[in-house]
Amino acid sequence: MIIKPKVRGFICTNAHPQGCKANVEEQIAYIKANGQLAKQTNNSPKNVLVVGCSTGYGLASRITAAFGAGAKTLGVCYEQPPSEKTASAGYYNTSAFHDAAAEAGLYAYTINGDAFSTAIKDQVLAKIKADLGKIDLIIYSLASPRRTDPVTGQVYTSVLKPIGAAHTSKNLNTDKLKINEITLLPATEEEIANTVKVMGGEDWELWIDALQEADLLAENAKTVAYTYLGDKLTWPIYGQATIGKAKEDLDRAAKAINLKLQSVNGSANVAVLKALVTQASSAIPLMPLYLSILFKIMKEEGTNEHCIEQIQRLFTECLYTDEPRIDSANRYRVDEKELEARVQARVEAIWAEVTEENLLELTDYKAYTDDFLKLFGFGIDGIDYEEDISPVVKTLF
Ligand code: NAD
Repeated sequence: MIIKPKVRGFICTNAHPQGCKANVEEQIAYIKANGQLAKQTNNSPKNVLVVGCSTGYGLASRITAAFGAGAKTLGVCYEQPPSEKTASAGYYNTSAFHDAAAEAGLYAYTINGDAFSTAIKDQVLAKIKADLGKIDLIIYSLASPRRTDPVTGQVYTSVLKPIGAAHTSKNLNTDKLKINEITLLPATEEEIANTVKVMGGEDWELWIDALQEADLLAENAKTVAYTYLGDKLTWPIYGQATIGKAKEDLDRAAKAINLKLQSVNGSANVAVLKALVTQASSAIPLMPLYLSILFKIMKEEGTNEHCIEQIQRLFTECLYTDEPRIDSANRYRVDEKELEARVQARVEAIWAEVTEENLLELTDYKAYTDDFLKLFGFGIDGIDYEEDISPVVKTLF
């Protein structure tokens, strides 16, 4: 089939296998050139579990552990295999990761299924016992709109809404390139609680409990879960909104997990990462406009980073160093370039001025759309998008 992007609103419903492979190879090349950690020492990951391993920050984490430190990686994701449609981008990414890992002689195994379920946790535990022995790094990088409670079977759905009062703001409609005002109504108490249930720390704790009960945590095991804090412009829809409440729950979970990990001398931290285009973030109202402005400023400042650069710094400046970049709330920080006062002031100034007439001049909307399409393997140099190709890829997972 000839595979061209099918974009609807904030999602692209197909993906290009060769483009996704190129993205994965580009990230691997970056880590080979810039991200090397001491291999197989006390200060490097060896056996790594990545929950949410197929796209965005989780994929970058898996690549950094494997190709930066020679770690064995066990990944969990929830991706669509090819059918009469293309597979999801994360499926192609995972296939490409496995190809590269096999070529490099690196152990990799992926379990494709619902990470919130007990059945998938059990499969992971069995695989660790059989192949890895113990795990020394657990990356928790899930982004999901819903979660089925493993005990009650109840399905919880998250919402992206402000808390307390409605919030009216500029918003970019990326389908029509129109900037209009949107008013987001405040979440109900139930919606807040449901969002915490989906994106909060409960499932992270369940993963650690399961690993600990099965005695699969190595001495000095580390675990990290990802969050975003942002600044004034994004607080009403992120930091101080339903998703921010869920992310606050990660801080609670990190404290609880830290107590549990005392027995293995381990540690749990939330890591604060910068805003960038992923399948999860493009669904958040305001974010496409914020990111288009942010990219313009950060590129001008020479400080813009993608997932792989962020995660490479997380590993080298936070996780595997004696002097981690850590804040007073015990969170690893690699979002400092986005939050620099000067950067935020420039973003706010453009935000006030931007209209649909000057959008392309005042923002780097092109960088936003390029990054968005790239997530699905489109717009990549060297790929022939007119070529009739099979959506089926060889899978080693
Ligand atoms: P993403 O959408 O690119 O990745 C989500 C991953 O979760 C994928 O691997 C997907 O397969 C997996 N997944 C989703 N539901 C699953 C399920 N039920 N079972 C198994 N796997 C499942 O998202 P991302 O932006 O990389 O987000 C990862 C984390 O980073 C999130 O916690 C997010 O809040 C955080 N974060 C994102 C940004 C950003 O700007 N994108 C910034 C800071 C922090």
